[in-house]
Amino acid sequence: MVEAPARCPVCHSNEMVPVYHSGTKTSLSSLCQILPGAKIVSYCSECGHLAGTGVVDTDQFYETDYRILLDDDEEDQVYEIRGDEIISRTDHQMAVLHGKAGLAANIRVLDYGCAKAAMARRITRGVPGIDMHLFDVSHMYETFWDKFVAREKQAVHRTPEAWDGRFDLVTSFFAFEHIPDPKASIAHVARLLKPGGLFHMIVPDVTGNAADFIVIDHVNHFTRSSVARLMTDSGFGEIDIDTTSYRGALIVTGRKTGTPPSAPVNDAEKAEVLAQARELAQFWSTAADRIRASEPEENGSGGSAIYGSGFYGAFIHANLKRPEAVACFLDKSPWQQGKSLFDTPIMAPADLPGNVDTVYAGLNPAIAHQVMNSQPWAGREGLRVVYLQDSAE
Ligand SMILES: [Zn+2]
Repeated sequence: MVEAPARCPVCHSNEMVPVYHSGTKTSLSSLCQILPGAKIVSYCSECGHLAGTGVVDTDQFYETDYRILLDDDEEDQVYEIRGDEIISRTDHQMAVLHGKAGLAANIRVLDYGCAKAAMARRITRGVPGIDMHLFDVSHMYETFWDKFVAREKQAVHRTPEAWDGRFDLVTSFFAFEHIPDPKASIAHVARLLKPGGLFHMIVPDVTGNAADFIVIDHVNHFTRSSVARLMTDSGFGEIDIDTTSYRGALIVTGRKTGTPPSAPVNDAEKAEVLAQARELAQFWSTAADRIRASEPEENGSGGSAIYGSGFYGAFIHANLKRPEAVACFLDKSPWQQGKSLFDTPIMAPADLPGNVDTVYAGLNPAIAHQVMNSQPWAGREGLRVVYLQDSAE
């Protein structure tokens, strides 16, 4: 039996208000794995954080099961497609990092929760001479790390004492949403930095990224107010929270200044978080019903396709009464095409089979209508597009 989070992982308050319960026995992970446990989200009325239930055995999951992008060296994710140009996640993260931190040769950097270290590698390529170090909670990425960072600059589970006070910059890309005790981890980051050192972190922004709300491996759904609280409680100052430079994410920077904790967040900001959380809960509670209600009849249908082989696409597949009617997933990412998800092939959108009569838009609702309307087969006779949510316009 999964219990709602009873204590806020950011500020340790017990004033938690339940806002969402999936009512399911299993939940999807951010890597589209089906894992045991319901997803429950609670709102912290002290700091405005949204805390979620997590995977059953966290240590084991990250040691062996969280296998992100382990297929090859250059595998990446799509951040955005502009015309025919694909902007990868690491390229965009690099551009953002350049704008926030003074990257220079010889500065000592640690990538905290680096996984395969694709981003650390991108940084070392972009800034030759930078002194890169790596930290994560799994040994399974070491063969990737060994290709560009010496063993003495790698740490798994614990960092050596000699690393305390050593770093000019600590980066963390999409790691803190997974960490059950973010308060301990941010204190760890503060300890590793030199006085005046910079911490640069990117985490999902649940208000622009509905998937973040229900994936079982994201135990933290940070808000502006909760991430500010996390940082100030560990002695960070000069905190900047950028909600616009990375779609669906918060870019947070702060300097280790030893500044005392700041005043509590204002009630209006927290009320807005609670209202948004309730909207997300409503969205996910009705999305599954909406998919099933739109399912074509068993006879007389040419089959269906799901556009998007990421989380939203997986969610649709997992909630169909007859998932076997799905002929394929469609995905514009060259790293996804040719693979499969739930034993169903992933193909380029242009290759949509002619007999398919239903396409489910398995995309972030914020962009789904725009993406579907720009497809070469948009408006094809007899083709129906099913959305998780009506267009906002
Ligand atoms: Zn809190």
